[in-house]
Amino acid sequence: MREQTLAIHAGYEKDTQATMAVPIYQSTAYEFRDSEHAGNLFALKELGNIYTRLMNPTTDVFEKRFTALEKGAGGVGTASGMSAIFYAIANVAEAGDNIIVAKQVYGGTTTLTGHTIKRFGIESRYFDVNNPSQIEDLVDKKTKLILFESITNPSIDIADFDAIVTIANRHNILTCVDNTVATPIYCNPLQLGCDIVVHSASKYTTGQGLAIGGIIIERQNLVDKIKNNPRYNHFNKPDESYHGLIYSDLDLPLFTLRVRLALLRDLGASPSPFNSWLYIQGLETLPLRMRQHSSSALAIAEFLESHPKVKKVNYPGLKSNSNYKLAQKYFPKGQSGLLSFELNSLEEAQKVANSTKIFKLVTNIGDSKSIITHPASTTHQQLSTQELIDAGVPAGLIRLSVGLEDTQDLIDDLKEALE
Ligand code: PLP
Repeated sequence: MREQTLAIHAGYEKDTQATMAVPIYQSTAYEFRDSEHAGNLFALKELGNIYTRLMNPTTDVFEKRFTALEKGAGGVGTASGMSAIFYAIANVAEAGDNIIVAKQVYGGTTTLTGHTIKRFGIESRYFDVNNPSQIEDLVDKKTKLILFESITNPSIDIADFDAIVTIANRHNILTCVDNTVATPIYCNPLQLGCDIVVHSASKYTTGQGLAIGGIIIERQNLVDKIKNNPRYNHFNKPDESYHGLIYSDLDLPLFTLRVRLALLRDLGASPSPFNSWLYIQGLETLPLRMRQHSSSALAIAEFLESHPKVKKVNYPGLKSNSNYKLAQKYFPKGQSGLLSFELNSLEEAQKVANSTKIFKLVTNIGDSKSIITHPASTTHQQLSTQELIDAGVPAGLIRLSVGLEDTQDLIDDLKEALE
């Protein structure tokens, strides 16, 4: 099936009441037929519902539908994009290990990798996403993951998948791509040789700024890279916390299964059934919405590029953009709805951010309502001056998340704010 059909139907077969819409299974727990059934579920001899911290029938539809759109083998929903990223890291790395992270990532990912996981003994080593050959010198025996964004937020750079995947595969290291900005409509990293995808479902997935959520998805046959790979011993050894289970012996998507059985079990950042239901509603129209977000963003980028007060526009759909070639290679159908532009000073940027009427001053992206953000004073405020430079966030930078309003109205709004 093609993406628009998958977006509407994947993962849902009529339930016992034959409801056309996916029901919200608002339940904490599930009744077992008898103790043997309960035992079989816990021992994975049978797959089924146990407790909503681990799985839920509404969340299951969300996971299957998103996994189908990403062309993956299995997915696990999480309570937020940040918990998806943290679990992807925690699933492979422990004290003494390191991960390699692109400098140009969402501010929360920078603080998670640069500060929070450091306290757990996990080191982060950074590379410039525009110079992936830097990864080579950062790798050692303890490297467990290479983490980057397909379209970076907010610098709007594009990852060179081929270059990153070649180095990762040479060293047998897993790659994890945050595909939030691109969405599965414009990019399927798992088809480009990457191993794991994470998303913040809080953005384009609901598409209306309705709920915080996330998902982790793994590629087909990921076991081939993990089985007997000394970097991932804990997938190949008996898991004492799960009566000796060896994940790489299972004929199941092992990465996301381990997130579910170990991390959701012990840390519990699982989505609420109601939120999963909202993501399902959003996914139905994701392909249609992304086309409008993307074409409007290009028109606005072209307008900004012609404006005398604008120093620089970052949108990979512009021919003048340094990422244009990569965008044509990896995102030929569109480059999503996020762009940023640079004014001469912090004051000028704050004045514009304070003056737009349709673009609301909000720290979010991927909403039907257009959003203007000044990253240096909000999303990236906790970053040091050097971290700001590394993340490609100068003080005069403004980020726009182009919504679904009339394109000309949005251009007029920016024109007035820039006067
Ligand atoms: N990844 C990207 C690219 C983001 O933009 C964000 C949030 O803005 C996140 C992850 C974190 O997601 P959440 O807010 O759902 O935790």
